[in-house]
Parts: sequence; C-alpha cells; structure tokens
Amino acid sequence: MPRVFPRALSALFVVMLAACETTTSGGAVGADRAQLMLVSSQEIEQMAAESYAKLLADAARKGVLNRDGAMLQRLRAVASRIEPQTAVFRRDAPAWKWEVNLLASDELNAFCMPGGKIMVHSGLVTQLGLSDAEIAVVMGHEIAHALREHSREQVSQAIAAQAAIGAGTALLGLGQGSAELAGAGYQALIATRFSRTDESEADRIGLELAARAGYDPRAGVALWRKMMNAHSGGRAPEFLSSHPADSRRVAQIEALLPAVMPLYQASLGRR
Ligand SMILES: [Zn+2]
Repeated sequence: MPRVFPRALSALFVVMLAACETTTSGGAVGADRAQLMLVSSQEIEQMAAESYAKLLADAARKGVLNRDGAMLQRLRAVASRIEPQTAVFRRDAPAWKWEVNLLASDELNAFCMPGGKIMVHSGLVTQLGLSDAEIAVVMGHEIAHALREHSREQVSQAIAAQAAIGAGTALLGLGQGSAELAGAGYQALIATRFSRTDESEADRIGLELAARAGYDPRAGVALWRKMMNAHSGGRAPEFLSSHPADSRRVAQIEALLPAVMPLYQASLGRR
C-alpha cells in the first residue's frame, strides 16, 4: 500500500470539514445542525430546474398537468402565503423562482425540489380530503426540505462515499472520473429518501411556516392521522415510504404546538 494513501484520505477529511455549514437560521423551533456540503447550491438548483422542466413537459404531453384549475388556484394561494415566511429561515428564499403545479394522479404525493419547485399529486388532496390548513402543513414540510437543502446534503454524502473509495483506486492507478462522481450525485437527487433527522427538521420548520402564514398548526395532527389511516387502509402510498406516518411523528407535532400556536395567533392579528 503506498504511503500517500492516508495522506489523501486526510486531505479529503479536511475538505469535508471545510464543507460543513448550516443552510438555515432563526425560527422558533430551531434546526441548525451542521451539514456536509460538497456541491454548490447553484449546481443542485440547476439539476433540479432541469428535472422539473422535464417533469412538466412529460405531464403536459400526457395531458395530466394542471387539469383542475380550482385546485391549482387553492394550492398556489397557500404557497403564496408561505413563501414570504421562508425569510425567517433563509433570507434568500423569498426571491427563489417558486413554482407550484398540479399533477392529475391517484398517488398521495407532493414534493418541493431545491430552489422552490413544488409539485402536488391531486390524489393527496382528494383522497385525504385536505383542508387549506392541512395543505399548508404538508407544503410547509416539503418547502422545509428545500430550505434545509436536504437533497444537496444527500448528494454530498453520495459523493463523499464515492470519493473515499476513489481516493484509494486513483492511487492504485485505476482512475476515477469526475463524471462518475457527478452521476452518483444526480442519482441521489432524483431518488431522494430523506433520513429520520431530515424528516424531523422538515416537520419542525414546516409547522412554523404554516403557523406564520396564518394556518392553524393543529392541522398537522389531523394531517398525519389521515396519513396513518391511508397507510392502514391497504397499499402503502409512495409518499409514506419516505415520510413514515406513525404515532411518534404525531407526538412530536403535538409537542411543537406550544411553540408555534403563538405565531399562528399573532399572524391572525395581522390579517
Ligand atoms: Zn419529508
């Protein structure tokens, strides 16, 4: 084994230390865990914007994009109330190029891609009979993933894992193209499976966003109970494989209510 090998690894370690940062600040519920970031926000947002544009084009071709005008208007109204509140966590976020679109689909699903590209499957709203406040909680949750750049963090972790292997193989003369690293990153972005920690952060920040936007955060309890029922009622929706709805989650949301109810009440006074 060449003597340079440990040195290469420690160099990687230094890079990783330098890359630790936190994407958000402030808020009443807090989420300031340091995150490993090895790619820039711009690179991720570029990838996300391209993926989102392709998704919209494919949906339009199949005739399933924004077919229900009334529901689309409801979703955009909720999003437009939440968007300015994101400034509490990130100063740059209100100026993102936000987009909200609706997919005609039976799936219980919704997501917000990096940079504020939101997609809601109509099945989530119709099959669970969501109120505006429940829509605000689920949208706040998805927006929180984007604010915390959880996808960028996942891409970075995938690259770090690849690079740790690559550092060894490169020294042995096998080589490791940067294209391959980019490929690993892209894979992590499109097949995002958030961790429990990510989910908990998104619940905290999302609930605060909904409350500040004037939506009753107690809807969070009702929302996740509906999700739990949907899960027990047969096939597991795609959404729940990455967002497990369980009593632990409901209990955490109930525990957050004392922190966010005053924000909700204050927002009512301003309306
Ligand atoms: Zn989530």
